[in-house]
Amino acid sequence: MADIIKLLPDHVANQIAAGEVVQRPASVVKELLENAIDAKSSTIKLIIKEGGKNLIQVIDNGVGMSETDARLSFERHATSKIRQAEDLFKLHTKGFRGEALASIAAIAHVDMHTRPEDKELGTHLKIEGSKTIFQEVAVTPKGTSISVKNLFFNIPARRNFLKSTPVELRHIIDEFHRVALAHPNISFHLYNNGNELFNLPQSNHRQRIVHVFGNKTNVKLVPVEEDTQVVKISGFIAKPEFAKKTRGEQFFFVNDRFIKSPYLHHAVVAAFEGLIKSDTHPGYFLYLTVAPSSIDINIHPTKTEVKFDDEHTLYAILRSTVKHSLGQFNMMPSLDFES
Ligand code: ADP
Ligand code: MG
Repeated sequence: MADIIKLLPDHVANQIAAGEVVQRPASVVKELLENAIDAKSSTIKLIIKEGGKNLIQVIDNGVGMSETDARLSFERHATSKIRQAEDLFKLHTKGFRGEALASIAAIAHVDMHTRPEDKELGTHLKIEGSKTIFQEVAVTPKGTSISVKNLFFNIPARRNFLKSTPVELRHIIDEFHRVALAHPNISFHLYNNGNELFNLPQSNHRQRIVHVFGNKTNVKLVPVEEDTQVVKISGFIAKPEFAKKTRGEQFFFVNDRFIKSPYLHHAVVAAFEGLIKSDTHPGYFLYLTVAPSSIDINIHPTKTEVKFDDEHTLYAILRSTVKHSLGQFNMMPSLDFES
């Protein structure tokens, strides 16, 4: 029989990869913000129109890119962040897959301005559906600005699947919060349809939480602190009386990356046992620092899940640390008093 297997053209492979990385406008926001952080920016601006359906733009003041790098950044598996497989176990960057820009450019219209500090002139590059429209020399500030328009223009099924503008905006704000809470040392701005929604100055963790969730949050916070061989834990839990029926203010960060972990969530809930009603959820902002070699972040393209080397030990430490903080603040089980 005749040979029938063919390598897919790059733009098709990119579009397939995009299906995993880019679910909605908020996924683009996450990838662009993380790139801006990896570029060592101190100020990052996010500009949105119509919940990201008309525009998602991220402007940073980071290291920028050379002309060649600007072009290469849109190739798949093109990254400055790792060189070899071993580097996956000593990650200090948000990115490493080299897939985000290639994926986004495969399914949207992208316009990029970028300039490294040591160059007088920068690069302006336009790319639509993996096709370079032009690349030219441009006068532009130090750093990088990327705008993404017409998301899913060539995937009608995805475009039609987008939710209403307020719903997509909500997802974007959630993503913005996660990134901003992980990096209080960076100032972040968010504008939607020309209105400033957030203006977060450089600060520390507590101040950032209060800036994001409002002044009323401050009184809720009980500090959590622990330093062991396995993990360093810092951050805050919300006092038991602020436990809510709805989930929401629950954040784990591992090495400055927001992650979802039902297992670790359970450890925190277990520490609150007897202090909150079983149909309510405790609030927390917990920052875990572990050796990069003890985790695997490469288990899902969106990198919101982590595989820990020794999750049982982590669970036990987390639970007892949270319990200890609750105890220190002298909050005896109010439910016990009732009986
Ligand atoms: P990854 O972040 O996994 O490396 P991306 O596709 O997100 O992959 O980006 C590709 C490369 O483009 C990055 O490795 C980086 O070198 C460069 N890059 C992307 N965004 C920026 C930015 N805002 N500032 C400077 N360089 C950037
Ligand atoms: Mg990236």
